[in-house]
Amino acid sequence: MSGRNAWKILAFSLVEQMWAPLWSRPMKPERWCSQQSCARQTSTNTLHPLRTGPVSVPGGTRQSPINIQWKDSIYDPRLKPLRVSYDAVSCLYVWNTGYLFQVEFDDVTEASGISGGPLENHYRLKQFHFHWGAVNEGGSEHTVDGHAYPAELHLVHWNSVKYRNYKEAVVGENGLAVIGVFLKLGVHHQTLQSLVDILPKIKHKDARAAMGPFDPSSLLPACRDYWTYAGSLTTPPLTESVTWIIQKEPVEVAPSQLSAFRTLLFSALGEEEKMMVNNYRPLQPLMNRKVWASFQTTNEGTRSLRR
Ligand SMILES: [Zn+2]
Repeated sequence: MSGRNAWKILAFSLVEQMWAPLWSRPMKPERWCSQQSCARQTSTNTLHPLRTGPVSVPGGTRQSPINIQWKDSIYDPRLKPLRVSYDAVSCLYVWNTGYLFQVEFDDVTEASGISGGPLENHYRLKQFHFHWGAVNEGGSEHTVDGHAYPAELHLVHWNSVKYRNYKEAVVGENGLAVIGVFLKLGVHHQTLQSLVDILPKIKHKDARAAMGPFDPSSLLPACRDYWTYAGSLTTPPLTESVTWIIQKEPVEVAPSQLSAFRTLLFSALGEEEKMMVNNYRPLQPLMNRKVWASFQTTNEGTRSLRR
């Protein structure tokens, strides 16, 4: 067997594992996103198995991520500011999932969570993680007017009024609320650095490291204007239970901090090393959805914000 064929078989089996829960569900006929409609089929499409898998979910009508068209988003004056309250001591540990790195929080109490904004209930913080590219030209999951940022932070919360735990909320209506924050290159981010400093300890898949108190509200932008829409998880099980809250303003991180993300590996200890990069899902069709804005969507000053 040639090395090339061996890789194909490996890639297929990994994709199969990741997507098996979806394939086993009874669903409507499959729809595939055409290559043309996915804006980011680029040469940075390197060898991560998920990138070779199906780019659309069979029967899905509200999949994420999406491209946010600024001019098509609709200002809703009823959208109140999001109330964010995180307790730094509920931060537990950080680990390498084999696809990204994730910081876990104690969600037994209401200590850390969000409410208000588009949400009718209180949602508890479960974890946060990032998606990023191999190069600075792409890496975010959502895009704004076709522009991809080099990375995107996701803070994942579950509805603790309607559901007993995260697992139930993942598959439930209005189960999850995820805050998305774009990262752009700029000044050094001081609080992110305490996390970056731990990354060498979790280089390989399944590695885990303890974390001291960490308040993730330090990773939110100063301006809390946001877009919101009904979507899904962007990793399996891809369930359509997510209220997305995408911050309009990106936060700045130093190039060296983003480079530190790229020193992580998809592979476990003892396996052939594969760089953890391009761990973002391709764009999904908007279909019959609206994107709502908490702010007046005039074009004034918007271009300068994104670059
Ligand atoms: Zn994510």
